[in-house]
Amino acid sequence: MDLKAFIRDIPDFPSQGVLFKDITPLLKSPEALRTTTERLLQMVNGEVDIVVGMESRGFFFAPILASTLNAGFVPVRKSGKLPGKVVEETYALEYGQDTLEILEDSISKGDRVLIHDDVLATGGTAVATCALVERLGGKVVQCNFLIELEFLKGRGQLNGFDVKSLMRY
Ligand code: 5GP
Repeated sequence: MDLKAFIRDIPDFPSQGVLFKDITPLLKSPEALRTTTERLLQMVNGEVDIVVGMESRGFFFAPILASTLNAGFVPVRKSGKLPGKVVEETYALEYGQDTLEILEDSISKGDRVLIHDDVLATGGTAVATCALVERLGGKVVQCNFLIELEFLKGRGQLNGFDVKSLMRY
């Protein structure tokens, strides 16, 4: 099945000049949803204790993967959204900066962690998430994505990590 047929290009979203890859057609199709899940699972090698998904589109598949891998799901969220004690990482955006947070007690030392998001673009989100996981003592076994925007070179920011993606542009 050609999953790229379920990705829609939206020009000038969320801002002028950006060509946004919209995954909602893929989520809506039962066959594409199932095939995507199967292919993401095939990319995983070895044991996983925790799947971390990033707000907000990482939340679609991360819990599905966790359930099949017999792992737990842990959310990484934007600033101020998580209840309780958090650790945070701030990273640079094209204009300005953003902060991601994870609950301090959500990962235990030595946990094997799979990181999942819908899109790898510049890599800022994934790098910050890897840093959060490692600060809590987790071991990042893989970062996997539905889509990799190769021209933004995010993979190069994730040196030393196992980076996998289903679709590349
Ligand atoms: P990065 O931090 O790698 O530059 O950007 C990745 C984050 O931005 C991901 O959390 C992803 O959801 C979002 N993102 C950036 N570009 C796109 C896009 O074209 N489509 C979608 N669906 N998400 C995007």
